[in-house]
Amino acid sequence: MAIEDDVLVIGGGIAGLSSAIAAAETGARTRLITHKQSTLGNASGLVDVLGYAPDDDTPRADPYDAIAQLPAEHPYSKVGADAVREGLALFDDAVGDRYRGSHSAANALVPTHAGSVKPTARYPRSTAPGLVSDDRDMLLVGIDSVTGFDAPMAADHLSAVGVPFDVRGETVRFPKSFPQDADVTRYARALDRDESVDDGTVREVLADRVEAVLEDERRVGFPAMLGDSRHEAVRTELQDRLGVDVFEVPTGPPSLPGLRLEDALYDAAEDAGVRITSGNPIVDFDADGGRVQQVLMDRLGSEVAYEAQQYVLATGGPVGGGIESDRDVVEESIFGLPVEHPEDRYEWFDDDVWGDHAYTEFGVSVDDDLRPVAGEEVQFENLRAAGNVIGGYDFATEKSGCGVSLATGYVAGSEAGELT
Ligand SMILES: Cc1cc2nc3c(=O)[nH]c(=O)nc-3n(C[C@H](O)[C@H](O)[C@H](O)COP(=O)(O)OP(=O)(O)OC[C@H]3O[C@@H](n4cnc5c(N)ncnc54)[C@H](O)[C@@H]3O)c2cc1C
Repeated sequence: MAIEDDVLVIGGGIAGLSSAIAAAETGARTRLITHKQSTLGNASGLVDVLGYAPDDDTPRADPYDAIAQLPAEHPYSKVGADAVREGLALFDDAVGDRYRGSHSAANALVPTHAGSVKPTARYPRSTAPGLVSDDRDMLLVGIDSVTGFDAPMAADHLSAVGVPFDVRGETVRFPKSFPQDADVTRYARALDRDESVDDGTVREVLADRVEAVLEDERRVGFPAMLGDSRHEAVRTELQDRLGVDVFEVPTGPPSLPGLRLEDALYDAAEDAGVRITSGNPIVDFDADGGRVQQVLMDRLGSEVAYEAQQYVLATGGPVGGGIESDRDVVEESIFGLPVEHPEDRYEWFDDDVWGDHAYTEFGVSVDDDLRPVAGEEVQFENLRAAGNVIGGYDFATEKSGCGVSLATGYVAGSEAGELT
């Protein structure tokens, strides 16, 4: 016997979680099934809506006013600017005080670990004192054993792009030694627990070492490693000890702000009454009369059937596992939905590593209700897609990743819920 729900969402990234919350909020009995950790663990934790319009390398002040200029196949063109606002409102409710940026429709400018400035719509509270619109002088502090954040270089880059304040970079030693391959989560745990070291505790000694290099800057930025489960306590203690504002600079994978965001969204989904089943993939489906009847999960070699009236496909792009390719073909991985792509594999990539690679926009095509189509033909009446499994946009170039997932997640989830 299949397990039955009103709405079944496949995929536990930001698109699947926002779909599931939106569906549950309509009163539908909603289940989310997900396989592995989502792309949020690699992403920065910043929520971009639209940082750059096509063919324009000037950062957008207002992400919404460029939506009308996007091509018809772009997911924002399918759902419209109001759906983007609704998706962001769902996000704001879900994460509450953990994030900033909802006071304004304009993009904020956040310094990155590479020393560039990124336009983004929502940013973690821990990054807020680092905004580039703030003109207080800034000290960036790198940790010598943590790769991926060279503070003096990031400071030089920020100065070179003309930020309205003085910025310096210093590198200090972390109070505790870890094996060379330890990632930032190990450092964060030591700060969470405030582990003992020779001269005190890690928080005390780290603050002492930073104090020794602090001049008259009024804010200090660290790579995003200041604690995991107790990160606000860690940051507050460093602020109190240093007597200046302390902020985190988003860093590359594994990204603690991204992992914290994933946890917050799971909590919100549970609060909304979503039933969550994780750890195993959906591998197959049965359909009849143009409707998905059930999907099949592979649990340790045996198939478990899940049935619902409406389905949302939120399995991500090539990174998340929603789109797969071999040497000849690209397709969606559960339903075998077609993915438009050049026949010649050499056209999937640009010769210039920084160029426009066709593969970045690979994904399923959808109609205005986000139902996957082949040409114009809707594939399954009761299946909607959300997030990076949808094609037609390049999140990395235009800076729109989480924004597209939230807008399409909101639309797919609420429409699916309302139809039950
Ligand atoms: C390095 C990097 C940095 C980024 N930085 C930013 C940024 O700064 N700002 C921003 O807005 N965006 C950023 N993005 C983009 C953003 O993270 C993604 O666009 C977004 O997270 C995609 O969300 P999603 O829910 O569509 O997919 P995913 O997060 O990929 O989630 C898909 C989920 O589906 C599950 N799944 C897949 N197949 C199955 C199956 N068969 N059965 C069950 N479950 C399945 C996966 O395990 C996964 O949990 C970044 C991305 C990367 C890679």
